[in-house]
Amino acid sequence: MPEFTIPRLEKLDSQPDAQKLLLGLLERPGVQTFLWVGPQGSGKKSYALALVRSLFCKEGPACTGCAACRQVLSKSHPDLFWLERSEGKNEITVEATRELDRKLSNAPFSAPCKVAVIAEADYMNADAQNAFLKTLEEPPAKSLVILLAEKTGDFLTTVLSRCRMVRFVALPAAAVESILVKDYGWKKPESQKAAQEAGGNLTLALKLGDPAWAQFRDKVCTDFDKALQGPDEEWLALVNEYDQLEPDFLGDEERTATQRKSEVLQAALQVYLGLWSRRLSAEAQVPAKLTSLAPDKVLKCLQKHQDMIPMYLNTKMILDHLLLELREGFQKGELLDRSFMELSTQI
Ligand SMILES: [Zn+2]
Repeated sequence: MPEFTIPRLEKLDSQPDAQKLLLGLLERPGVQTFLWVGPQGSGKKSYALALVRSLFCKEGPACTGCAACRQVLSKSHPDLFWLERSEGKNEITVEATRELDRKLSNAPFSAPCKVAVIAEADYMNADAQNAFLKTLEEPPAKSLVILLAEKTGDFLTTVLSRCRMVRFVALPAAAVESILVKDYGWKKPESQKAAQEAGGNLTLALKLGDPAWAQFRDKVCTDFDKALQGPDEEWLALVNEYDQLEPDFLGDEERTATQRKSEVLQAALQVYLGLWSRRLSAEAQVPAKLTSLAPDKVLKCLQKHQDMIPMYLNTKMILDHLLLELREGFQKGELLDRSFMELSTQI
């Protein structure tokens, strides 16, 4: 048996397969390194915190916030090491994982074990992964290592082979609502609204509680609808405006212009996708001029352009292409799925 025991993990209710696998693995001797893989917003970070709480808290599942739990939730507990990309950086470096190694090698301070969580572990560069191999192979006694990632493609096979993989699936809106109420103390009506709007993406639902984000969302929905229905100047102005936009939700993090642009376009398409999802399920009204295309076709087109963001650095060209393709689609009542070359850019 491991040198520590895991109490019941009730918070994993909405990921029944992951819960079953995880509980089984945690009871097995010697399993101390995990890789949790699942789409953005499937609750990996929240579950990692819930797991650490269940390990560190002495009050049991009914605890409403003892000192240990509060320290875990604010990621300031001395036995929890939470590693994310540094601000504005596009990778997790070897220095960061070495530091983590050092911290893990000490005895636990007050908890039964130490836990290292590498959030967005798919951003560890090759050096960082190599430097961390030894820890994954032989984790220090009384330690647990959890890597969180959206995909496995960027990992060295040596890393993958040393971790027990647990798959997370996209959450249903009801599960997001219940997590917002139970884990984040949100009121029920707000939770329900955010969960529905975020379409089961917990990360997005949490953002909706931020007034700066809500303001950005309202702006995007109004601007994009207008650009699709209005005269040519309308969408050209929008493309130029969004290329320079610095919405409040970005905060003070340092980032390059390219990073900012791709973050803004990513966020804009995410909220506009959310609006069209609600239009698809008839929860939101479709403006009269935008009824010539079925909402699922619009969603597919938006998704296609969102997928382009990590591949092409020119976010202005992606937005330009998206609006041209959709405007043409609404005019003709049919989407032509044009390539980048076909729709020559006018900017
Ligand atoms: Zn507690």
